[in-house]
Amino acid sequence: MDPADFRRVGHILVDWIADYRERIDSLPVQSRVQPGEIAALLPPHPPVQAEGLDAIASDLERIVLPGIAHWNHPGWFAYFPSNTDLSSVLADLVSSGLGAQGMSWQTSPAATEVEEVVMEWLRHMLGLPEAFTGVIHDSASTATLCALICARERATGLCQNHGGLQAEESPLVVYASDQAHSSVAKAALLAGFGADHLRLVETDDEHALRLDLLEAALAEDIAAGRRPCVVVAAIGTTATTALDPLAGIAELADRYGLWLHVDAAMAGAAMICPEHRWMWEGIESADSLVLNPHKWLGAGFDLSAYFVRDTEHLVRVMSTNPSYLRTAQDGAVRNLRDWGIPLGRRFRALKLWFLIREQGVEGLQRRIRRDIANAAWLRGQVDAAPDWERRAPAPLQTVCVRHVPPGSHDDEAALTEHNLSVAARVNAGGEHCVSSAVLKGSQIIRISIGAAATEQRHVKGVWQALLAAAKAGRHR
Ligand code: PLP
Repeated sequence: MDPADFRRVGHILVDWIADYRERIDSLPVQSRVQPGEIAALLPPHPPVQAEGLDAIASDLERIVLPGIAHWNHPGWFAYFPSNTDLSSVLADLVSSGLGAQGMSWQTSPAATEVEEVVMEWLRHMLGLPEAFTGVIHDSASTATLCALICARERATGLCQNHGGLQAEESPLVVYASDQAHSSVAKAALLAGFGADHLRLVETDDEHALRLDLLEAALAEDIAAGRRPCVVVAAIGTTATTALDPLAGIAELADRYGLWLHVDAAMAGAAMICPEHRWMWEGIESADSLVLNPHKWLGAGFDLSAYFVRDTEHLVRVMSTNPSYLRTAQDGAVRNLRDWGIPLGRRFRALKLWFLIREQGVEGLQRRIRRDIANAAWLRGQVDAAPDWERRAPAPLQTVCVRHVPPGSHDDEAALTEHNLSVAARVNAGGEHCVSSAVLKGSQIIRISIGAAATEQRHVKGVWQALLAAAKAGRHR
């Protein structure tokens, strides 16, 4: 495509994206297509002759849009907020337009240096001590894998340079709570710890890790000749945004020599508001921390922020130094390929740079505070409503509920079916989308507030929809 065509079609597509965002609330939040429906609209073979892109906007409208779940819809209450502020859409376009490769400082100095500076901005915004340095990863899953690999290498004096874990005398153990995100278990398996050496410690009534059980598990492993290696604390678990007792976990990590990794993938964004930082009291003791600006904060997917204390160790574990990548500046600059798993790196920092400049820290704080206030409003409604139960404290923006029709308290199977049908009925309406989960055996409905377009009236709307769906379910 030549620049003249790019300019012409590009204007059409920017208009199309702007129109899409303007009319997003007229679309059903959830896609209604059936499996295979989108693929059936595409030719099975690629065009042999060049087609050009003049028909692309109408094909996007006809083929792609029906298969999209609208995460930026004001009625989006499913999973977690995954806001893609339009400023970060422009940043992504610029990143692709530049075609920058940031694997080494020399391969695009701006990609490295803008990232260094915006990660410092983010560190300040979060109130993190200077001891932390940030680097961008694609996802929290990758960042947590890095953390577990670094923990493994610290505990074993860099076993990867010798016989690896296979040559270790005693097995290394990973600890997290039974509410930890699946990426923690996945990282433990991929980093070679093995499922037998992953302890998912039971949680308390508020779904936070129980310190007494963590300590008991540590003692049991040591007595059996195993070596505690790393503990992952969640600040904002996936199902309920439960807060693990970080200060207590940090104290145990210190006493037992564990690497402390904090997973604040979703909730970390709230820490840009100083009044919420009590939630991660003890964070200064962490070895590493991940939070996802690509969730609630508004930087379009993918952009995960990984903060580490010991950058030298990170680089020692992650660096490779083949001759074809060496440059004259090595030693004087950061080569970010050595700060994570992949060699090639997109210029993701532009998304954060654009977002923070466009919104300002105060604008971002205002939105987080609005969402937390909206969740508090919903919490009050649920607590006051007969036959509705709130199943978790909801310190942030996720409210976990279930409807318990009179007389059905003891019938778990009926409650499961009923609550699944309530959620399905709400979602079928097209104006709202909520998600379901099983929390310690109970079927719940999660209302995750925080799409940038969601105002209080939309939260009131989803609550009315839930009430109506529960009533319809009872009268079936
Ligand atoms: N950790 C927590 C607490 C999460 O809620 C999620 C995603 O929902 C993840 C990790 C995984 O994030 P990612 O998709 O960036 O790997």
